[in-house]
Amino acid sequence: MSASTAAGVVWDLSDLYRGPDDPRIDRDLASAHERARAFEAAHRGKVAVAGGPAPDFLLNALKELESLSEQMDRSGVYASLVHAAKTDEPAHGALLSRTREKRTEINKHLIFFDLEWVQVADADAARLAADPRLARYRHFLEQKRAWKPHYLSEPEEKVLEEKSVTGRAAFVRLFDETVAALRCPFEHGGHTEPMPVQQILSKLYDPDRGVRRSAAAALTQGLRDNARLLTFVFNTLVLDHRSDCTLRRFDSVMGPRHLANEISDAVVEALMTATERHQETFRRYYRLKGRLLGLDQLYDYDRYAPVSGDLPSCDWAMAREIVEGSYTAFDPKAGAIIREFFARHWIDAELRPGKRGGAFSSSAVPSVHPYILLNYTDKVRDVMTLAHELGHGLHQYLSRGAGYFQCDTPLTTAETASVFGEMLTFRRLQVLYPEPRVRLALLCGKIEDGFATVFRQVVLTRFEQSLHRAREERGELTTEQINELWTAANAPMHGDVVRLTDDYGWWWLYIGHFIHVPFYCYAYAFGELLVLALVQKYTQEGSAFVPKYLELLASGGSDAPHVLLAKLGVDVTDPAFWELGLRLLGDMVSDAESLAAQLA
Ligand SMILES: [Zn+2]
Repeated sequence: MSASTAAGVVWDLSDLYRGPDDPRIDRDLASAHERARAFEAAHRGKVAVAGGPAPDFLLNALKELESLSEQMDRSGVYASLVHAAKTDEPAHGALLSRTREKRTEINKHLIFFDLEWVQVADADAARLAADPRLARYRHFLEQKRAWKPHYLSEPEEKVLEEKSVTGRAAFVRLFDETVAALRCPFEHGGHTEPMPVQQILSKLYDPDRGVRRSAAAALTQGLRDNARLLTFVFNTLVLDHRSDCTLRRFDSVMGPRHLANEISDAVVEALMTATERHQETFRRYYRLKGRLLGLDQLYDYDRYAPVSGDLPSCDWAMAREIVEGSYTAFDPKAGAIIREFFARHWIDAELRPGKRGGAFSSSAVPSVHPYILLNYTDKVRDVMTLAHELGHGLHQYLSRGAGYFQCDTPLTTAETASVFGEMLTFRRLQVLYPEPRVRLALLCGKIEDGFATVFRQVVLTRFEQSLHRAREERGELTTEQINELWTAANAPMHGDVVRLTDDYGWWWLYIGHFIHVPFYCYAYAFGELLVLALVQKYTQEGSAFVPKYLELLASGGSDAPHVLLAKLGVDVTDPAFWELGLRLLGDMVSDAESLAAQLA
């Protein structure tokens, strides 16, 4: 557990609170509660009035609401950070639930505001949103109203909300708990060991083909054993989603997701068809990978096999230098912000029992600064994770000026700075490790990451579309029928380069995205292709690109993504736009081919 050079790299959360027993936590919560009560008393019944509220009245209300919301959330953010840093400390769990409960209580006084704002007549709301005095909150005000046509009456909303606990939410939890408890009988070396899904999936990255094949068989068996129940959950939630869309007057089952993402159906369809036109890039790479692995025919369980087992290790000091260097070379100001993260202890990188796995950057609250958590294990891959999270950190740091209500972006652009920052660091790593064998391994890793976020997510979305369509046309579906839809969605991309076994047909059964947030997946493809296009713009425009890019990050979620991106000369509504990123992926495969030729 302690075998990492990041030992001792711990964050300092004292900019939020001194500790879990800091009396200011309860003082902030009590104060926010008091302010919320006063806010309700002063504003209830005064927003949804004939002609709409006076602009100054609305402005003052928004300022107070934003300020007290931030005060309310500060303790919750702190609680989630101390909990992530040490989840097995009971006091941390208790603090987390205490702040959550208090938040729900405070929120009860605030819900009226949104409901009243939506009731203001369209013409009055448009006039207010356009008022220069309210300019800072324009997008926030407009976004709230974008959902107006889809709201039901207040009593109907209350019934839906209440029944969802024993309806949709219960099925989601049943799915999560079933997949978490699911055991896959992994056969290896003459004995069988039951393994959870996550552990089995990690065995698909094993250099030994026998291990990968056994893992694939074990996963299939684990899913088959639970197929009846999981299929029923899928059938139920797909139908539930459709009835929700019908009740809320959406004209397509993707409608709610598009609205939340502030994107049109046409843009998403253009992105997906462009990606599908480039599927040959995927096959070209896997032909190369087959050669590198020395395999005549690749099967589904070979896709994640490592092309090189022994990448050099990278200690924390070196990682810091690489990442700081890559951001500084992009822009000295950005580099200075990244240095602050290290120097002022906003990063928690050491390995520690009880610490949450994975990595994240929390924006915390705009009046403080972001915090980053990762588990640094001295692998080159961790350097990319550090660069990724610092990209989020830079974005969050710069967008604080947009304020608490508008600093966050929708899903589609949330990964912009992280993936861009990863790309900067990736390019630096390619220079630092000039040896062709290492460069090739790094490049293959980057290509496979890109494929997982672009090609795979488009396939997942196509499958999801066909699933919702089939459920509507044919009624309740059997596992076998859904297996066929899954295979049909996957087959065109893999062609005969990666042969999909019958077992693979079952592998939709554990994917939580379909259950948690319908049509979540295309946002990944959007984000990745957007960044690859931005990388190309940076290559073409050089330093002229930099201020426009930083301005984009500083804008946060203060306008719709296509509006903010237009300022960089990026037009996501142009179907040809997606070609830029897809061609860059193709170029990366060509680079891998020529590196491999050098090595042969
Ligand atoms: Zn991310």
